Amino acid sequence: MTESIEGAVGLPVAAEAVEAARTLGEAGALARRDELVPAIRRANEQYYVADAPALTDAEYDRLMRELVAIETAFPGLVTADSPTQRVGAAPTGAFGEVVHGRPMLSLGNVFDEDELRGFDARVRRGLGLAPAPEDAPELRYVAELKIDGLAISLRYERGRFVQGATRGDGTTGEDVTANLKTVSVLPARLREPVSVEVRGEVYMPKAEFARINAEREEAGLPTYANPRNSGAGSLRQQDARVTASRRLSSWSYQLIEDGADGRPSVASQSEALARLSALGFPVNPDRSESLDIDGVIAFLETWSEKRHDLPYETDGVVVKVDRYDQQARLGMVARAPRWAIAYKFPPEQVETVLEDIVPYVGRTGTLTPVAHMRPAKVAGSTVARATLHNLDEVRRKDLRIGDWIVLQKAGDVIPEVVRSIPERRTGAEREFDMPAACPVCGTAVVRDEGAVRHYCPNPQCPARLSQEFAHFAGRGGMDIEGAGWAVLEQLLERGLVRTRGDFYRLSVDDLESLDRFARKSAENLKASIDKSRRRPLARVLNSLGIPQVGESTAIDLASWVVSRWPAEGIEAGEWFGTVARELPSVTAQELREVPGIGPVVAAAIARYFAAPETAAVLSDLVDAGVVAVPPAVRVAPGNGDTGPLAGKTLVVTGSLAGFDRAQAEEAIRAAGGKAAGSVSRNTSYLVAGESAGSKLARATELGVPVVDEDGFRRLLAGDEP
Ligand code: NAD
Repeated sequence: MTESIEGAVGLPVAAEAVEAARTLGEAGALARRDELVPAIRRANEQYYVADAPALTDAEYDRLMRELVAIETAFPGLVTADSPTQRVGAAPTGAFGEVVHGRPMLSLGNVFDEDELRGFDARVRRGLGLAPAPEDAPELRYVAELKIDGLAISLRYERGRFVQGATRGDGTTGEDVTANLKTVSVLPARLREPVSVEVRGEVYMPKAEFARINAEREEAGLPTYANPRNSGAGSLRQQDARVTASRRLSSWSYQLIEDGADGRPSVASQSEALARLSALGFPVNPDRSESLDIDGVIAFLETWSEKRHDLPYETDGVVVKVDRYDQQARLGMVARAPRWAIAYKFPPEQVETVLEDIVPYVGRTGTLTPVAHMRPAKVAGSTVARATLHNLDEVRRKDLRIGDWIVLQKAGDVIPEVVRSIPERRTGAEREFDMPAACPVCGTAVVRDEGAVRHYCPNPQCPARLSQEFAHFAGRGGMDIEGAGWAVLEQLLERGLVRTRGDFYRLSVDDLESLDRFARKSAENLKASIDKSRRRPLARVLNSLGIPQVGESTAIDLASWVVSRWPAEGIEAGEWFGTVARELPSVTAQELREVPGIGPVVAAAIARYFAAPETAAVLSDLVDAGVVAVPPAVRVAPGNGDTGPLAGKTLVVTGSLAGFDRAQAEEAIRAAGGKAAGSVSRNTSYLVAGESAGSKLARATELGVPVVDEDGFRRLLAGDEP
């Protein structure tokens, strides 16, 4: 049995590990510490600042535990700036700073049942209670799922959301108020006019993570390692519209009250959770209260399997002493409370056989080697395929066809080949190499100087076309409702669509000729195609699949385009015609003016626009009647007559979930629009929330367009309602 003790720095550590550290001697321990500290600092930087970890969490936790063991064995080696003494990372300066009223702490970790019982024993000692199971009713725990997201603090004054911040280094966080307003489950206004601070976790649902990574992989952008990093990256965006496009969610788990008398209205964590719920916060129902340590263990056993079915990531269970008075007596150490602990689920890895490595051709022509494996069950589902990204990865992991390999799921979602197991080789394994010719069209495969990707340069390669068109018609692009894979394949096979513009040349008769289509469904598809003809320029640019350009770069690029070729006084169709003619001659130098675009991306975009095929694609779209709507010029805030709603008058009625009236009107003004109190012929849109009454009737009567809350958010983002 591993005995867990409270280490010199307060974090739990296995007694054996401390013993092992002692055998190093002081000099050996010092040398090892000097290796560990920079390695952990580097990992922190990559994880918290760049949102792109280079280590797995299990690897990171191992380094951290080794450091705790060394510092426990040789307390003289603890420095004030040791990673064991600190939380997260300091703000980067990209956002305003928020100093937390109370520090936002980390949690100590335990990794097995014995260590968890060690925590229970320490808590009992701290409270002067007898060892379990005696005194059982005296000590109750709440077990909550540990959400693998980003810790946030939300401040409400008299019931209104006023400020949101990240944890940062625990003392100072980043002001992400605007971005948090786009997280729709978080209330803008509470059910009671109280002033509170609420802490919780913002996370990205697994499905959203998979969608965004697929998009990024296609666009040739680096993928996120897991939903946690993807969620953190999405929240820490300079442009709140990007955050809004990433459907983030949240659970709240801590209530801090600074009411008139400063006294909390609740006396325990379980009461706090109920109160949070009553105020309108999202509180995770998958929790258990009033538990003794055996109850806690039963809870984590249940969830170690069941967690894979949840729509979000959890990396463990947080166990908290329920009563506030007991919490206060236990207090905190260095960077964590003594009254709570995080039990971390073990990473799930399995061994299987790599039967083949097969290159697939993607939308941009990239050949991606894909592992075909003997099907294996991992993290709740059976896996037979995993992307190996590129040839360098295959070499780095030393993967050979026929190898036994270690397989896991990155962030519980995306299957990942961790490494090969060379000890199990028989000699029959084969090295993989990229084919010299494209497996689909036979064109010679190219690898650019210094680049990792191999690609098929043939723009007419059928593998490329079908995926390019799916992206074009997809949600981030022209968003043609009803043009899914089955429809697309038929359109291509039958030669009805050979270019992107051809979508807009399809007739109802053409569509009716497709399998499983009747007149009505053909008419519906035709209507949704026509509807997609006008899209904001950012969407049109994103739909093209420009290498290295994803949704956020497309937004920046569109703003640059309109500042370069002003749209005032020109009809949108004509403006797009001009832009389409001019874009092929932009240079990498000019593109450097776009904020956030560096030399590599600028060169890739310029190369894309300069290609003769691109000019053909753009003029084909213009010819087919596609209209890219120019974004409103974005200038320094405070200039009231610019922004996505410039020149528009909106009226808000009924109740909206994410905004109260004042906030909605403020958002309209911030977007350059005018907020009016009554509906007239001059009203551009009526934003109708729940139980809208006479204004809605009046708008309908006058033919004023009515939008719901989602439509309103789209308008604010410069999109169509
Ligand atoms: P932590 O993530 O282990 O635990 C503390 C955090 O848990 C809190 O700040 C809170 O945000 C969160 N949490 C989630 N659900 C909660 C709930 N129901 N109640 C209370 N808190 C809840 O500690 P940490 O200090 O945030 O980060 C350390 C961890 O981050 C490491 O153990 C590792 O997993 C990961 N990390 C990884 C790398 C890497 O390179 N892979 C680098 C740094 C950190």
